[in-house]
Amino acid sequence: MRCLIALLLLAACKSEDPGEDAGTGDDAGVLGEAIRTNETSGNTGTAGELAVTVSVEEGDRSFMVVGTSEEAHLAVLAIDDPSGATILRWQDWYNERRYVTNAFWATRQATVINWPIRDIDPALVPGDYVVHLGSYRADGTTSRPDIDVDVTSLISSDQDVERGAIRVLVLWADGLGEDAALVSATEAAIAHWADVWEGADMALEVRYEQSSIDPLLPYPGGMGGPVLLEASAFAEPGEVVVIIGELVNDDPSQYGVSGQLPGPLVPSTLSAIVVGWLANAGGDGVFSDNDIQLYGEVLAHEVGHYAGLFHPVESAYDAWDALDDTPECGGQRACEDMLGTNLMFPYSIGCATGMCLSTTGITNDQRAVMQRYTGTR
Ligand SMILES: [Zn+2]
Repeated sequence: MRCLIALLLLAACKSEDPGEDAGTGDDAGVLGEAIRTNETSGNTGTAGELAVTVSVEEGDRSFMVVGTSEEAHLAVLAIDDPSGATILRWQDWYNERRYVTNAFWATRQATVINWPIRDIDPALVPGDYVVHLGSYRADGTTSRPDIDVDVTSLISSDQDVERGAIRVLVLWADGLGEDAALVSATEAAIAHWADVWEGADMALEVRYEQSSIDPLLPYPGGMGGPVLLEASAFAEPGEVVVIIGELVNDDPSQYGVSGQLPGPLVPSTLSAIVVGWLANAGGDGVFSDNDIQLYGEVLAHEVGHYAGLFHPVESAYDAWDALDDTPECGGQRACEDMLGTNLMFPYSIGCATGMCLSTTGITNDQRAVMQRYTGTR
């Protein structure tokens, strides 16, 4: 039984305010140059749990497991290493005020975990890892047995954890890719994002595509799932999808929201980042230089979530990431002083004056998380 917790931050931000065996039917493939994929399906049985085996080989760096269900909410319960030792368990984190992954909360009909997450997590060793998934009712806490789950495992054999690149698909909502001013501002913002991410030794490989998706984008989750699923179908294997729309959830202060943390590398109801361009243009529809700086940092921040980064402190100053080199500050003043220029700070400072404080800081531990994201190559 999992105890109740307030619905977790959905990786929103940058607003002004702040079992049984995994069944058969393997369908193995190769994703990109260094990612192997394996698709299976299984049923969570009477225990409401499904054990997914991930076969790690010599030289593999990290893996991701994505589970999806048509019927139930899903969560990750634990990861066992090839010796059988449990190296990650939900009980250690569920009531913590430090966050390492959103996978323990059964808030959606899909779940995703990346492993290892931090540089202090044990590096992969060859052998069979087991990722335990659980199926739950919509309350996210009551077990719901006998649920069919589709599972995709992705394993990266890119051993470099010092320098990496992420592939991004910028997907224009209907008609926006023909707005020359918006395209130009977005390209300038992405150039700034690339500069910011250089601080984590991360490069961007960006591709653009048009779509007929409604520019009034939904908030990810629940009702937004189908739009994220539709958008993620545009992705080539390994790409992270960023949808540029006009507004998110009809909220002119909503800059961008990541579909999950970390984000899946396969099409799903979680698999995109939604961005509302009007908010990024400061609401007046015209991009100033400061707007473009903010827009680029919003993109860098939201895809930072997708690559596994939490806010170093949440906007109530009562919860933190699980990284050692981002201080556990308390209170607005101290947190803004210590962390206000960090890329992952939960809100932008000074925007009311028309000049948002630039947030380009990335710590070594944050860099290590990004470098271990399975989509980083
Ligand atoms: Zn955020």
